[in-house]
This record gives sequence, structure tokens and C-alpha cells, in this order.
Amino acid sequence: MEPREQNIEYDERMMRLAIAEARSSEEAGEVPVGAIVVGPDGETILGRGQNRVLRDSDPTAHAEIVALREAGRALSNYRLLTPDGGACTLYVTLEPCAMCASAILHARIARLVYAADDPKAGACGSVLSVMNHPQLNHRSEVRTGVLSEECSRMLSGFFAARRKKRGSSPPLDPHPIDAEDALTGGSDDDEEEMVREG
Ligand SMILES: [Zn+2]
Repeated sequence: MEPREQNIEYDERMMRLAIAEARSSEEAGEVPVGAIVVGPDGETILGRGQNRVLRDSDPTAHAEIVALREAGRALSNYRLLTPDGGACTLYVTLEPCAMCASAILHARIARLVYAADDPKAGACGSVLSVMNHPQLNHRSEVRTGVLSEECSRMLSGFFAARRKKRGSSPPLDPHPIDAEDALTGGSDDDEEEMVREG
């Protein structure tokens, strides 16, 4: 482990790039989640991803998946490894779900850094423990809580604004996914009822 990879200022700098992706997805009307893949040199951004499930009508278009795909193309390798075996780090603004955690393992990501916990769908210990499951081979170093308050505020702010825009006033829930459930539940004519977090 190189010293800079354990440096909180470095992790925050990289997380800000993921936050920029999340902001961009928010501007497009998507739930704000962003991710980046950083190469083994610790500087090269190999992939950027933002939640695109609505725009692409794609249930797999979570920020992490989008970033992993771009990085795989950049490296011409479905394992995100360089020819000399160097591995990548993934930064994401929200705890990965089971699908994304599994993709992170398939990609052989050496290090996962995420901001906010997701107590409804997180697969890094909150709900499931796909990352570093004892019966799965690949191990990744995981760091949590980097700029978590900022990322949580971004999510809760998004849902609060959307509720306000709709003129409804469901109880404010501290967890964004719950807030979304409150937002989207019970209205059959709501085209976004089927929308899930990215
Ligand atoms: Zn996911």
C-alpha cells in the first residue's frame, strides 16, 4: 500500500471527482450517485460513472457499473488490472448494492472507498456483506465514510426537492431510499414509481 492511498486528503480529493459525477446525474434528474475508477498510479482516472438508470432505461446503469465498464475498455481487460498486475481503486458516493459489489469483485478492484452508508440496499455490511465475504475469493481493502455527510446531504436534498416539486409532503425520512419509497409508493399513475436508486 502506497502512503498516499491511505491519506485522507488524497481520498477526499478523489471522492470529490465522484461527487462531481453525482451532481451531474442530479442535474439530469437522476438520483445523485457518482463513481470513479483510479488506476494503479493513483492519478489516472480510467473510468467515470454516474447513475443513468432513467436516461438509459437500464436497471444496471448504476454509477459503479458505468465507471467499471469505462475502465475495462481503457485497460482492454475485464479484470481491471494492468499488464504488470497493478490494480485499481473505485470511489463511489454511496455504499454499493449487491450487483455493484459483485461487479467490483469480478473487476478485481484492490480498494473500494465509499462515502455514505446505504442501510436499505448496501452490500458492504449494511444489509448484505458481498464485499469480503469469507466464501468469496477476492479481497478488497474498504474505506468508508469519506465525505459521507456531504454525500448524504446531496441525496436527502435531492429527494426533499423532488417531494417539494410534486407538492406532496410525505414524512421526511433521514434515509434517502426510504424517502424515495415514501415519494413513489402508492401512485399507480406515477411513471417514476418503478424508479430505484442508482
Ligand atoms: Zn449498485
